[in-house]
Amino acid sequence: MSKKVVIIGGGIMGVCSAYFLHKEGHEVTVIDKSNFSKGASFVNAGYITPSHIISLAAPGIITKGLKWMFNPASPFYVKPRLDLDFLKWGLAFKRSATKQKVAQSIPVIKDINILSRALYTEIKTSKDFNFHYEHKGLLMAYKHEKAGEQEWEVGQKAIKLGLKVENLSAKEVEAIEPKANLNIKGAVYYHSDAHMTPGVFMKNMLIYLKNNGVEILSEEEVKDIVISDKKITKLITDKREIKADEFVMAAGSWSPIISKKLGIKMLLQPGKGYRINVAQETNITIPAVLLEAKVAVTPMDGFTRFSGTMEINKINHKINPIRVNAIANSASKYYHGLQISTQDKEAAQCGLRPVTPDGLPYIGKTSQYNNLTFATGHAMMGWSLGPATGKLVSEIISDQKPSLDLNPFHVERTF
Ligand SMILES: Cc1cc2nc3c(=O)[nH]c(=O)nc-3n(C[C@H](O)[C@H](O)[C@H](O)COP(=O)(O)OP(=O)(O)OC[C@H]3O[C@@H](n4cnc5c(N)ncnc54)[C@H](O)[C@@H]3O)c2cc1C
Repeated sequence: MSKKVVIIGGGIMGVCSAYFLHKEGHEVTVIDKSNFSKGASFVNAGYITPSHIISLAAPGIITKGLKWMFNPASPFYVKPRLDLDFLKWGLAFKRSATKQKVAQSIPVIKDINILSRALYTEIKTSKDFNFHYEHKGLLMAYKHEKAGEQEWEVGQKAIKLGLKVENLSAKEVEAIEPKANLNIKGAVYYHSDAHMTPGVFMKNMLIYLKNNGVEILSEEEVKDIVISDKKITKLITDKREIKADEFVMAAGSWSPIISKKLGIKMLLQPGKGYRINVAQETNITIPAVLLEAKVAVTPMDGFTRFSGTMEINKINHKINPIRVNAIANSASKYYHGLQISTQDKEAAQCGLRPVTPDGLPYIGKTSQYNNLTFATGHAMMGWSLGPATGKLVSEIISDQKPSLDLNPFHVERTF
């Protein structure tokens, strides 16, 4: 049965949900307060990451975070503040950062990533719209043996899950990436990963949706939500009121603000990250994470992107030049001769990752409302998991059996 569905938020979660809902014959509207050109879904590294089986909340991260707190150029920073939501999130994060919880999440993260990668391929082969998508794997490049050993432990776990992973020496890396001039000890090579140019996908997806009858409301903000009897009846935006049968919460880092209006307390914090685009030729052809520096390098459509940092703080889009410089300086240390210009650094942009305490997203319905589906909280894997999430949202709203067990993603799970 066709339903009228309104999606709050037009990042990767919103547009992928719209895509699959529309394919199922629903009448879909996407509302976004931005003009669909900025934010996490545009600045990300574009990785499709079956390799990222370990979530951010892993043993050791708290100690590392505490050490890094006093370094203005560190890749991970938590701004301490007296805010109840932040404190609750922090406690839940600490409780999630155990060996046992991480081990439980590994197969869940792998399965949803594999599903999503398959769906990206399906969208590509459907020829609904064109976009850059390459499957060349991901190098976890390291300068120090210790970092390499730690990553190889993760690699071996991934091999047990069926992924192809190799431990390469510097010479072996040079053989597959001969012109990039990498200055490293070696790299763990995950063949499973793919990469894309997010801006191209977002632009062409939006054109496809519009041309196929999906209503796209740009620069319109959801201000309030009207409820009656366990159901949302309408949204109130700054321009109109919108009624629908079903609603999707895909508002990324803003999801807790809107959820509060519904009496839903969602543990989620924004994690700011930056990107620098370099248009000049870098000869980098295989994506690489520079392990010690935590910088992601992606050869995109017409430029190379360097991205990184995770700043847990209040919602803000201030650009901190110290962190932008730190990304550029680290990159130059891993690639001999790489120059990132002042102009490129000045044009850096940022986006907010919606970070849950355990690194797993919130997907599905809550017990409080019959017609509200969540598609948020994807932290560092949102680009990767867009299509799988969109597909699951569509299955939930279409009353079909979901492709994956939704329990690990439950909005009301305890941490
Ligand atoms: C530097 C960086 C690198 C990254 N690299 C990768 C990567 O390589 N691979 C990967 O998988 N992930 C990566 N990520 C994470 C990924 O980008 C995010 O998880 C993902 O983009 C989140 O998508 P979203 O749709 O949930 O949120 P968003 O993209 O933030 O979209 C939410 C939208 O909701 C809108 N909105 C909010 N409130 C309202 C309201 N009241 N009314 C109307 N609209 C509203 C906002 O305007 C926004 O456009 C990276 C992130 C960053 C910052």
